[in-house]
Amino acid sequence: MSTTEFNIKNIVRKNVLQIQPYSSARDEYVSDGSTMVFLDANENPYENGVNRYPDPQQRRLKSVLADQKNVGVANILLGNGSDEVLDLLFRAFCEPKHDNIITLPPTYGMYTVLATINDIEERKVVLDRHFQPKVSQILNAIDENSKLLFLCSPNNPTGNSFSEDKIVQIVENFKGLVVIDEAYIDFSVEDSWVKRIKKYPNLVVTQTLSKAYGLAGIRLGICYASEGVIEILNTIKPPYNVNELTQQRALERVLDQEKVTEEVGRILEQRNALIEALKTVPFVTEIYPTDANFVLIKVDDANKRYEQLLKHGIVIRNRSTQPLCEDALRLTIGTAEENTQLITVLKQV
Ligand SMILES: *Cc1c(COP(=O)(O)O)cnc(C)c1O
Repeated sequence: MSTTEFNIKNIVRKNVLQIQPYSSARDEYVSDGSTMVFLDANENPYENGVNRYPDPQQRRLKSVLADQKNVGVANILLGNGSDEVLDLLFRAFCEPKHDNIITLPPTYGMYTVLATINDIEERKVVLDRHFQPKVSQILNAIDENSKLLFLCSPNNPTGNSFSEDKIVQIVENFKGLVVIDEAYIDFSVEDSWVKRIKKYPNLVVTQTLSKAYGLAGIRLGICYASEGVIEILNTIKPPYNVNELTQQRALERVLDQEKVTEEVGRILEQRNALIEALKTVPFVTEIYPTDANFVLIKVDDANKRYEQLLKHGIVIRNRSTQPLCEDALRLTIGTAEENTQLITVLKQV
């Protein structure tokens, strides 16, 4: 198999191929900046900053992202969080009760939730003990109805990035879409795969402003892919899926890279400090390498330690029920003060 065989028409759902997208008022008339009287969308004419519908194609925001990532505007789709982007991928490419997806647990829980909602079979190929993909097992799990394969790198909850070589093998041998979820890429020492969407038409990269960019509250997810994939997602997305306030705040933030980089730097410093401190906590049995803004650790008794931290006012994530994660806890990196508080409590319980 080679990627030259990839044809988007073979993997998109038939009903989606036939859709005439809903054309909103703001799709039919695209402002060229001249002063117009807008009587086309039944809006309230009294200005308050948000009385008009938002740009359905988020042109300003996309053009900044396109410049920064060195891709075309036609390679970008924005969503109400990356969760919406992932849901659009399911609805565009996976036929309910017929198709299947591949996931590599332990990983992000939304893939399973979305597969269940959309009535899609999920084939789970557990990571190896270094939390890396088992390539041959993955390729064995695939069949002609496998449409999406999710690689979360850096992976949540394990924190590590997947090996470049393994990702290449998967992308080059899968005829469906490989979705690399890069929610944590801005904390990582590894390169983003966005650069390679030109080379691989079956590669989809998702990012978000919820983590390093500090904007979880506005809900802005980003999908980078070949024009063919983006075009299909565009036909099925709700017309005004990214609201005006979100577009404004996102634009301000992506234009302020210095601030983002500075905060990421501080988080990474705190990550190192936390890891050093964890080494001295007697009940911590394992500290996994991390490329993200959290650390996965193993402890003597995860339920007990989780409850103890709660009693001291600290909320962490107990990941014990996931495969390979027995007695594992996930700790997000907070501020220096929060980190100190965490360490103090860990040493005292
Ligand atoms: C946090 C996270 C996201 C973010 O989703 P949003 O909907 O953009 O907030 C996506 N993927 C993974 C793996 C995450 O951990």
